[in-house]
Parts: sequence; structure tokens; C-alpha cells
Amino acid sequence: MTELNVKPLTDRIRAYNPAIDDDLLSRAFSFAEKAHSGQVRASGEPYFTHPIEVAHILADMHVDPATIITALLHDVVEDTEVSLESIRSQFTDEIARLVDGVTKLTRIEMQSDNRQAENFRKLVLAMSEDIRVLLVKLADRTHNMRTIDHIAKPEKRERIAQETLMIFAPLAERIGMTHFQHELEDRAFAVLNHQMRNSILQRLEFLAEQSEDLVSRICDEMGVTLFEADIESSVSGRRKSPYSIWQKMQREKVEMEELSDIMAFRVIVPEVSDCYRALGILHQSYPMVMGRFKDYISTPKRNGYQSLHTGIIGPNKKKIEVQIRTPEMHEVAERGVAAHWNYNTDGKPVNATEHSKLKWLNDLVNILENTVSPDEFLEHTQMEMYADQVFCFTPKGSLIPLPKGATAVDFAYAVHSDVGNSCIGVKINGRIRQLATLLKNGDQIEVLRSSTATPNPEWLDFCKTGRAKAQIRRFMRAERQQEFAEVGRALVLKAFRAADKTFDEKDLLPVLAHYDTGSDIELFALVGEGQVDARDVLTLIHPELKKTLKPDAKTSSKSTQQSTTPSLNIKGLTPGMAVHHGRCCSPLPGERIIGIVTHGKGITVHRVDCQNLEKFSTMPELWLDIEWEGDSPNIVSARLEAVIANERGSLATVTTLISEHGGNITNIQLVTRTLDFFTFVTDVEVKDVRHLTAIVAAMQSSPFIESVERAKS
Ligand code: MN
Repeated sequence: MTELNVKPLTDRIRAYNPAIDDDLLSRAFSFAEKAHSGQVRASGEPYFTHPIEVAHILADMHVDPATIITALLHDVVEDTEVSLESIRSQFTDEIARLVDGVTKLTRIEMQSDNRQAENFRKLVLAMSEDIRVLLVKLADRTHNMRTIDHIAKPEKRERIAQETLMIFAPLAERIGMTHFQHELEDRAFAVLNHQMRNSILQRLEFLAEQSEDLVSRICDEMGVTLFEADIESSVSGRRKSPYSIWQKMQREKVEMEELSDIMAFRVIVPEVSDCYRALGILHQSYPMVMGRFKDYISTPKRNGYQSLHTGIIGPNKKKIEVQIRTPEMHEVAERGVAAHWNYNTDGKPVNATEHSKLKWLNDLVNILENTVSPDEFLEHTQMEMYADQVFCFTPKGSLIPLPKGATAVDFAYAVHSDVGNSCIGVKINGRIRQLATLLKNGDQIEVLRSSTATPNPEWLDFCKTGRAKAQIRRFMRAERQQEFAEVGRALVLKAFRAADKTFDEKDLLPVLAHYDTGSDIELFALVGEGQVDARDVLTLIHPELKKTLKPDAKTSSKSTQQSTTPSLNIKGLTPGMAVHHGRCCSPLPGERIIGIVTHGKGITVHRVDCQNLEKFSTMPELWLDIEWEGDSPNIVSARLEAVIANERGSLATVTTLISEHGGNITNIQLVTRTLDFFTFVTDVEVKDVRHLTAIVAAMQSSPFIESVERAKS
């Protein structure tokens, strides 16, 4: 039973850090005790026993005082009424920041889905900006696994164990905390595969009985062999853990009966040079197992681990695994990043001063960044990748990895190209935001879609991923081809009418073959682009017209065409599309317009009275009668209800914001007014839904606005 008393903890810390601030520690202790008072764990014990145990686990790793205090406070913000602010005011910014980090990690809903596991591990690493956050989280998980039997529901136990095995144990390994790693693995294994673990344990028991004292005999013999070669050493041996044996059985597809090397031995020698000498002696004295030698001294693992590994047929003809290392390497192997904490290079303890903390962090960065061996290059690049990535959730909890700097549009396209193409807006963590918003780790993104929406070429200015850019461009190309095809079709119809012929699409087949095009649309697009002359299409179908056609065309005039050809509706003009405004006359929706076909560029729209049309008077084949789609441009009115702060100038600021974003306010009405806020409804004319969403997003980013939404009329 855990004592609800700070003394055992203080004693444990003082043993490695005599400079511990008793007063601060007991304040944190009482603070957390009070916050959790009345809460109980599944075991029936007071809830506060849990943070105390987590603090003890970390004290065993000799961590700094801020980490211990964070451990005591780690569940306070999540599970009690206490706010982060009061932690900040009672303690330090540093502690508040660490507690906040742990709270954020606790809030992530983990998914024990194999395909997502690596993404979750990266997310946790990315969110643990300070490695101490991760240490507290791992200790928290370790204590939860120690007490998992108290959880009644088997499904819940399994979910937690699964998550432990796939997310937390690998993270512990990644930062070199093998203590945590092995305990987490073994406890999760016991929950998930109880029977298998038991039978492995039984087998180990049986083998131990058969070869009584084998471990100590092998240790003695190796020790003597090294001593005779003048190498001072300490040799220890252990059975491998049930989980690592099980993994090996899976990996090498062998039955337990065939497993031989279930023992691992460790040789600790004073100096690095002794490691290599000891290796030489062992290889001379015993047969070496091929393919087992690894030199992690010259090329340490990324988590800082150093040792020589080899396999030999040792004493008693047993196949065994041997690790050779110095005491310093052993320290790192056992305590991982925490080993760098309070020991300087002489191996003497130092106080956790600001300097040593920085050194420790630098060490960590070095560990994470220095990779020499080609073997670890792959792992290294994964690490780099994670530093450059953000991880965001779909509303259903799937995790989408994106490069740093990615926006909501990138997210939409990463989910699916259809989602991107139909995207009209986005909610980030429940609030409407601009599509260009930069995403942060852990953001939950809901893409708002409309079946009639199309990608906006302006997205290309801010989206980050190649996937989004390629999809937007592809859509634009298809759209452009569609527009060219519409233009081309009108040109072909016009040519047929001018020659007094009826056009029938069935007649096009030989023409398609002639131009090697696969479809009507493709052919019409070539005509629209000016690659194929509409009159050539006519004469391919009616060869007899070849001689008479050209003079006819020359004599036809604009006015006669207008009376004979159907006009072509054009949509809203989008940059990069096949239809352009003439810069000379800037035609407006509603005005009479004429299109001029330009080779390779689609059509340019001019006002019917534009001076520049003169230039084309001798080329009537380029003229196209067009009109705007609908009588007036596509303006819709939307009613918004907004709550804004009752402050001087707030309403003016908000209305300015709306007009700056192109919205036209036609009506505004105050609904209610209180001391702090007032509510108003406003009718705003916008181009389309996307335009409205952009305005709402802009309003929500204003500090004056409390809320804004479409009014339910
Ligand atoms: Mn906890």
C-alpha cells in the first residue's frame, strides 16, 4: 500500500540529489493530494496513490526535481478542477509547461490499429517537445500497467495493453529506456497472450531444472577465461524475457522446443579497448555463431546504446548471446536518456543546474542526430521525417501525416482527392477556419464539402503537398479541356450553319480517326484551342464544300452570324481557364459581350463596343457570340448571426472585415445587447458558399467576435 506521505519520496530523491528542495516538493505533494481528494482508483485505493507511484518510478531513474513534481501533478489538470493557470502561479512556468505537455499526450485518443501505430509514435514524439514529458508519460503508463488487473472489463484491459505494446514500449526503446520497454512489453504480453506467456515460463523453468546452476557455471567459466588473458571483468547472466523469446519464435518461425539461445550474458570491462580484447579472447576460446556479431561501440544505436554483441557456443556447448560493454555504456543501456542527467563525463554526480540540464538536452539531440552507420541511416531519415511532419486527425480518429507547413487543403487532399475537390471550408478543433490555416500536431480536422464545389486555383498559392498541387492542376486541366470543348463545339456548329449543313455527331467518326482523337470532347477541345480549324471538320464530312467555303466565310459578317448562331453561355471567369476577360475593356456580368478565339489560349471576352474588336474585323471566323450565364452574376444573399464584444468600435471593425473580404452588407440589425456582448444579424451578398465560408472564417479570427453562424430563418 502506498503511503500518503511525502517522506519516502524525499528520502529516495535525496539519495541521489542532496540539493533537493524539500519545501517545493512537499508543496507539490499537498497540492496534488488536495486536488485528487475524494477520487479513487479501480483498485479502491485513493487516486493520489497513482501520481505518488509515478513519482517514485521516476525517482528511481534519478531524474531532476521538475520532472518529479510534474509526475505528482500529471493528472491534476485532466482529472480535477485545477487549472493550468493555478499550477503556473503556484509553481513555475517550466512545471506548468511540462504538466501541459503530459495533459496533451493524455488527451490523444490512441488507436491500436497496426497501420496507424508508427504515426501515433511519431505524433507522441512530436508532441513531447521536452523529453521529460515523455518520461513522465512512460512512468505513468508503467504504473497503469502494474495495476491493470484492477480494471474489470477485459476489452478495456486489452485495449490498454495493445496500445502499450504498439505505442509506448517502442517509444521507450527509441529513447533508450530499456527498463521501461521490457516491463511494458512483459506486462502487455501477460494481458494479451496470457497462455503463451505461461507456457514459455514453464519451458524456461523446465530448462532451468535440467541444467541446474548453468547460468552461474557459464558466468564463472567465462570470467576465468578472461582473467587468464589478463582482463578484469564482471560477468552476469539472465534468462531472456518471455516476450523477447516469443518475438524470436515469431520472427524465426521456430517452435519453443527448438529454441536454444534463451540465455543472455553480459561482460562488463573497464575500458573500451578491453571490450575488443575480451571479444577476441571469447572468439578464440569458443566457436562463434556466424551472423551474430555487431559492433555498436563504433556505431552506436540512435538512442545512444553502445556494446559489442556476439553469439558463441559457450561452456557446456550451449548457444549463448554475449554483450560486452564498459560501465558507462551499461549506465546508458539501462537508463537511456536519463543516464545523461546527473553525471558528468567523470561519472561523478552533479547538481541539476541549468547548465547540466542544457548539456543533457544537447546530449539527447546528439544522440538523436548523429548516425554514422548505413544500417541506421533509414531510421535516421525517419527521425528527420518526423521532425518535419505534423499529424492531424480525421473526425473518426484516423491519423494523417503531413509535412510541416501543410494547410487544411493539403489535409483534404491527403484524405482523398474527392474530398479535396469538393472542399468548401474547414473546421479545425470544432471551429471554422480559413483553408490556408497551417496545421498543428494533434489538430482534428473536419472538411466541409459541397457536391457542386470545385477546387480553387488560388489554393495553389498556399498548399504545400505535391499531392494537393497535382490534383488541383489536374482538375484545372480537365476543366479547361471542358471549356475548350464547349468553345470548339460552338465553332463547329457555326461553321455548319454558315454552310447551311445540318450537324450530326454520328458523322464525326472519320474526323476523330483523321485527327487521332479518342472522343468528341477531345476533338472539340482541339478546335476550341485553335489547333484544328472548324471548317476543316466541315470539309472532312462534306468534301464537296472545299472550293466554295473560303470566299463564303470572308463575305459573312458579324451581324449575320449573330442572327444564325446560338450563343454560348460562359461561366464565372477563373484565372487559368480557357475563357479570359479582355484587359482592354473589362467586361462586367450583364453587359453584351463578344468572344475572340485566340490560337492555343481559348477565348478572350470583350465588350461588344470594345475598340480592340476592330483588329479582328477581317477575321470573322474568330468571332463567337457569347453571353453571361444567367442574366446577372451569381450573387446570393446569406444571413449571419454574430455575437460580438460590446466595445467601442467593435461593430465597425466587423463590418469593415466583411467588406474587405468582398461581402456586400445589405441589412444589419441588432437583436440583443448585454453589458459585455451584443448579437446582431446581417444579410451579406456573396458569390457562393465558398466566399461565405471565407468571410465567416475571417470574422472568427477577429478578437471582437465571440461567435458567428448562419442564421436559422
Ligand atoms: Mn496518470
